[in-house]
Amino acid sequence: MIPMVNLKAQYTEIKDEIETGLAKTLTNCTFILAENVQAFEKEAANYLGVKHTIGVASGTDALHLSLLAIGIKAGDEVITTAFTFIATAEAIKYVGATPVFVDIDPKTFNINPLEIEKAITPKTTAIIPVHLFGQPIDLTPIKQLCEQHNLKLIEDCAQSFGATIDGKQTGSIGEASAYSFFPSKNLGAFGDGGLVATNSDDIARKIKQLRNHGSNQRYYHEVIGFNSRLDEIQAVVLRAKLKRIDSYNQARRHSAHLYSQLMQDLPLTTPFEDNLGLHVYHQYTLLSARRDEILQGLQQQNIGCAIYYPVPLHQQTVFKPYYHNLSLPVTEFVAANCLSLPICANINDETIEKITTTIKSLL
Ligand SMILES: *Cc1c(COP(=O)(O)O)cnc(C)c1O
Repeated sequence: MIPMVNLKAQYTEIKDEIETGLAKTLTNCTFILAENVQAFEKEAANYLGVKHTIGVASGTDALHLSLLAIGIKAGDEVITTAFTFIATAEAIKYVGATPVFVDIDPKTFNINPLEIEKAITPKTTAIIPVHLFGQPIDLTPIKQLCEQHNLKLIEDCAQSFGATIDGKQTGSIGEASAYSFFPSKNLGAFGDGGLVATNSDDIARKIKQLRNHGSNQRYYHEVIGFNSRLDEIQAVVLRAKLKRIDSYNQARRHSAHLYSQLMQDLPLTTPFEDNLGLHVYHQYTLLSARRDEILQGLQQQNIGCAIYYPVPLHQQTVFKPYYHNLSLPVTEFVAANCLSLPICANINDETIEKITTTIKSLL
């Protein structure tokens, strides 16, 4: 059995450090917004090269609170991609705005800036690009559109912790950026967690308030907020993993390059790397017309693999009635032909050789 993500192997390596930190938190009984969350926020801001980070309960909340803090509201249109996890669009709906889905680049699977430009209307107030599968998207043209049309830029970095472009971290460009610490993400907690990064003092203050019942001072409430805090237990785990995130991402890159090298002669498309930045391979996703055959063959051999994402957002049951006239040919093609193979910081070369040999025999 080869899993998509081997979390146990990663835990074994850092068990002592995490357990020492957890024991201290349990002994002190300091569970909410205490020293580890504070320290993690500082360490993460330092790592990401941003002025503020704010720990929240999930990546979904990080997106939701960012949109609220920036002032995106009912009636607004927010341009994003349909080839992403549902949370990107859910957050837009939470604030009453309308997701406007545009097509992706066929090579990187990231949102296509030329399509963004065509979709801008007087109601557009924000753009949410997703650094999908860990491939950083060049935000230069998108930032330019934002400046021209007075739009806010919110980066969905749920899959790109540690990815850089032009020497800058993903998440350091937009007004606010959202990270997820879902266990299988590149920086994963032992449960749910998320983070907002921003260089704006105002947005940071608003998000701190929103995550904690609209309050900056205990029992004094200025706005209706939420219970959306990163907890101390998760912060202990995240601090231990943050120290090692570059080597985790390097290991993912090594594995991805080995996959691509071993499959270079096969009739399938290995992931494209645009060399503008550092792709951190949250997923290793290939394209093949015989995707379903490969999927079944791997499953029969107990090799984990998955389709991210089988149904683009505009075709999901929840959105379909509102988008039945929308056609996104590249998105639809990629969804019909993509397949993600096991990748994580702890997969070894022999495992990758076994998987590629199996794919070779299937084709
Ligand atoms: C995981 C993910 C989210 C949501 O994060 P959660 O922590 O699970 O709420 C948002 N956007 C994308 C692209 C994701 O992959």
